[in-house]
Amino acid sequence: MPARTGQQYLDGLRSQERHVWLGGERVKDVTTHPGLRNGARTIAALYDMQHDPALRDEMTYVAPATGEREGLSFIIPRTREELERRRVMMLHWARATCGMMGRTPDFMNVNFAAWAGAAPYFAQARPEFADNVRRYHEHITRHDLTLTHALINLQRSRDTAGTFKLEEGTALRVVRETDAGLVVRGARILATLGPLADEIAVYSPRLGRMAPGASPFAINFAIPCGTPGLQFLCRESFDLERSRFDHPLGSRFEEMDCVVFFDDVVVPWERVFLFGDVDLVNGTGLKTHSNVHTAHQGAAKNLAKCEFVLGVALLMTETLGNAQLPHAEERLGELMLQTELIRACMRASEADATLDEWGVMCPAQLPVESSRNLFMTAYPRMIEILQLLGSSSFMITPSEADFRGPLAPAIEQYLATDAATARDRVKLFRLAWDVAGSAFGSRQVLYERFFASDPLTRARILNALYPKREAADRVRDFLGRD
Ligand SMILES: Cc1cc2nc3c(=O)[nH]c(=O)nc-3n(C[C@H](O)[C@H](O)[C@H](O)COP(=O)(O)OP(=O)(O)OC[C@H]3O[C@@H](n4cnc5c(N)ncnc54)[C@H](O)[C@@H]3O)c2cc1C
Repeated sequence: MPARTGQQYLDGLRSQERHVWLGGERVKDVTTHPGLRNGARTIAALYDMQHDPALRDEMTYVAPATGEREGLSFIIPRTREELERRRVMMLHWARATCGMMGRTPDFMNVNFAAWAGAAPYFAQARPEFADNVRRYHEHITRHDLTLTHALINLQRSRDTAGTFKLEEGTALRVVRETDAGLVVRGARILATLGPLADEIAVYSPRLGRMAPGASPFAINFAIPCGTPGLQFLCRESFDLERSRFDHPLGSRFEEMDCVVFFDDVVVPWERVFLFGDVDLVNGTGLKTHSNVHTAHQGAAKNLAKCEFVLGVALLMTETLGNAQLPHAEERLGELMLQTELIRACMRASEADATLDEWGVMCPAQLPVESSRNLFMTAYPRMIEILQLLGSSSFMITPSEADFRGPLAPAIEQYLATDAATARDRVKLFRLAWDVAGSAFGSRQVLYERFFASDPLTRARILNALYPKREAADRVRDFLGRD
């Protein structure tokens, strides 16, 4: 099957009997459930973009192996041009979702493309694991599947050393090996897009070494979301079933986050990519360079999000008539700086991209890691700026129904500004509230703080990667001058 349409994506979701729980009830059909259906429709619309005649060439490419059009995020980039072409595609999806869906399918697609490109890495564990990775990449590409992922083990307490505590009965582990595959049991977080995905990938960037030799916690695999024994436990939905006017983002971009329980789930051998070796599992992202590819996708998302928040801020100040006030200009300037910094990181990662030992063109590491780390604090600050610029206007936000109620004439009269009608003002500020204040907006801030791991871990990663000696030597040289 070539690149899917939205309808094919929705049909695919419906075709799998899955266990998704929301508000104490099992969701019968994620494509019609009020808390999930709009998110599903948005993802479907992203798939439809692949067939839009105006976008088709920027979203898909003709795969030499099949002669069919496949999504560009599945490509294993071999040249800088391919890397840039893939980013154009990712930016289309990111802009279509205003940067508010972090886990659009391209995130995992680029991950598996990197792994397939670096398949010999997996062969270090067992030769067949390399074939499994290659075949799986082909499978998700040909079927244009959507993946969620759950990398983090739930913990009952925290280790002061900063490593993960893997606890029996909580963390996901292999409990048995059978002819059919591995049997796994435990819990993982936090599968964003879980109910709206076809498959779930499980691996881990940081497993503490429990013991010398093989660890039952060290696993890397992917299985269909409908696999028996898999349970997805959703948080409450931030799609409040309101109109687009009342809740412009939540009514479109609810991507949902889930805890995933694995109750003796059988993972077929052909879906196992690594097993047992802590160092190989821990090192996957770094050694296959999938980390930089996912960070590149993240940088495109960050750029789209910056552009959107900046646009909201500009319209807010225009509407309120405070755009020319010095403090407003200062704050807008800060948003512009963040936007351009992220754009620069993204572009620099492409300009300085290099071929790795697997022959895959990789975005330069430091610029994309900088974009990822920067955004953990930059995004909360951007939201603070929106709040500072908007003040009480966030609360002067009657609902769409109020514009049809008895107070409509008063609302139209008193809520208008010199630059905007009351309706336009309220519409804008309801959007701004969904960015900067609502449950949907607050979750976005939390997402940016934590989706790529906790700040301590990210800082440690940056410390490990950074060419520190160069900076230190410059100062040593200076100190050594007469
Ligand atoms: C909205 C959202 C979406 C997400 N989506 C996904 C997803 O799709 N897939 C996925 O795999 N993961 C996802 N994550 C999970 C994310 O990877 C984790 O939240 C992240 O790794 C942090 O782990 P934790 O939540 O268990 O934090 P905790 O370990 O509970 O940490 C909480 C705080 O305590 C600090 N802390 C913890 N331990 C120590 C220590 N030993 N020493 C010092 N400080 C410490 C941390 O730095 C952090 O500030 C998502 C998270 C969020 C919030």
